[in-house]
Amino acid sequence: MTTTKRRSVKGGAGEAVDAHERGKGYLSPGEVEKLLKAAKDGRHGDRDHALLLLMYRHGLRVSEAINIKLSLESTRYYLAHAKQFDFRQRGYLWMYDEELWTEARTFLPVVRSFGLPVEELTASEVQKKFAVLDDVSDLAGATFTPFDGRLSPHRLRTHYINHAQAGGVELLSGWQVVGIEGEKSPYRVTMRRVSPRSIKRALTDGVATSNKPPKEPADELVVSCDRIINAAGPWAP
Ligand SMILES: Cc1cc2nc3c(=O)[nH]c(=O)nc-3n(C[C@H](O)[C@H](O)[C@H](O)COP(=O)(O)OP(=O)(O)OC[C@H]3O[C@@H](n4cnc5c(N)ncnc54)[C@H](O)[C@@H]3O)c2cc1C
Repeated sequence: MTTTKRRSVKGGAGEAVDAHERGKGYLSPGEVEKLLKAAKDGRHGDRDHALLLLMYRHGLRVSEAINIKLSLESTRYYLAHAKQFDFRQRGYLWMYDEELWTEARTFLPVVRSFGLPVEELTASEVQKKFAVLDDVSDLAGATFTPFDGRLSPHRLRTHYINHAQAGGVELLSGWQVVGIEGEKSPYRVTMRRVSPRSIKRALTDGVATSNKPPKEPADELVVSCDRIINAAGPWAP
């Protein structure tokens, strides 16, 4: 395989595409105030204001705000296939200490604006509702979302895989993406075969140990594609 200079497609050199048109890449507190006011004056003022405030205070990306909506849609889907995913709608209890409780409550108007019912509970209400909790002395409050639940992640994953394959998706399991090249489509994605043993080592001893160069050169695969979706998890490069 020939090696060419690799470049991260996402983000390039870390500059925004319109960087040449603006002197800085962030908003000043005064500009944020104006943005928040403009949101409040809009058609869905309370919701938009609360959503922007939430993003500003907690440093959320747009994708994270979208996550609230996505989670809601997902739960509706799980409900519709409850038996298949072993979905049990038992609710979700989040408990907070004094410091986090004030912050957590700023989320509530946003969450409710999306139609998700949220109960606010005092420490004694938590104990009444969940008798199994015998010490709530360090609790400032809690939220309970009865719409939430738990399911079998394995069944859900299998369902998604089957669905994708039925739609013509080819799954490459056991390959690690080690490089993405190209300034524009088509991109070249280079993958290296990962042995089941090194996956096991990563799970038991940690990634640093498993990143040791293999004794034998691993199989490589190069795929050309028009689009790339980076879904490599929270630490995705
Ligand atoms: C302990 C714990 C408990 C959790 N409990 C819950 C819970 O109760 N409810 C809930 O909703 N969420 C929970 N989460 C969060 C949930 O697991 C994550 O939000 C979710 O898994 C994220 O999915 P993802 O597909 O974005 O990323 P991931 O599930 O991380 O998937 C990313 C995939 O990309 C692969 N990958 C990474 N790099 C490469 C590469 N270079 N080449 C090829 N493949 C690559 C990884 O192997 C992995 O399979 C929990 C998380 C943790 C850690």
